[in-house]
Amino acid sequence: MLNIVIFGAPGSGKGTQSEKIVEKYGINHISTGDVLRAEIKNNTELGKTAKSYIDQGQLIPDSLMIDILASVLDSFKDSKGVIFDGFPRTIAQAEALKKMLSERGQEVKVMLDLEVPEDELMTRLIKRGKESGRADDNEETIKKRLVVYHSQTAPLIDWYKKEGVYAHINGLGNLETITADICKAIDAAK
Ligand code: AMP
Repeated sequence: MLNIVIFGAPGSGKGTQSEKIVEKYGINHISTGDVLRAEIKNNTELGKTAKSYIDQGQLIPDSLMIDILASVLDSFKDSKGVIFDGFPRTIAQAEALKKMLSERGQEVKVMLDLEVPEDELMTRLIKRGKESGRADDNEETIKKRLVVYHSQTAPLIDWYKKEGVYAHINGLGNLETITADICKAIDAAK
C-alpha cells in the first residue's frame, strides 16, 4: 500500500501535484478541503458547520475531521494506496491517521513537504481567488490561514521527521521539475 501525505502551506501546490501522483501511481486521493467544499455546495449539516470555520480561516475541529476521514477511507475498495492532501493538519490528526492505518496493517510511506516562500503563497492564492471564486482565497482570510498553518500545522514537520518518513520538496519553480522531485522521493520510499 502506497500511502502518501502531501503537505505544505495553503497555495503550496498540493492539489496540483496530487493529480500528477494519482495519474502516475494509480492511488486514491483524499482532499479534505474538497470533501468539505462538496458538503457546503450540497448544503448539508456538515457543510453548514464546516463553512463557519472555513470562512474564518480556521480549522474544522479534529474529532469531526477524523470521523470524515475514516468514512472516506472506508469507501475505498481494492485501493493501491492513498494520497492524503490537506490531512493531517494537526498533531492529533497525524496520530489518528497513524492509528487508523496501523489498524489496517498500513502506514504512511512518505510525507512530502512542499516548501514555498510566503510572498509567493500570497500571490498564488490571491490569483486563485480571482479565478475560482473560492471564498477563503481573499487577502484577509489567507493571512489567517497562514497563521493557523504556522501555529497548528507546521509542527507536523518535526513529527514526521521523527517518524522517519519526511521528504523536503522545493515547491517553487517549474511544475514538471517539482513533479519529478516528488516522484523521486516516492520511489525512494516505496
Ligand atoms: P484546503 O482546501 O485544504 O486548503 O482546505 C480549506 C479549508 O478547509 C481549511 O482552511 C480548513 O478550514 C478546512 N480543512 C481542510 N482540511 C482540514 C483538516 N484536515 N483539518 C481541519 N480543517 C480542514
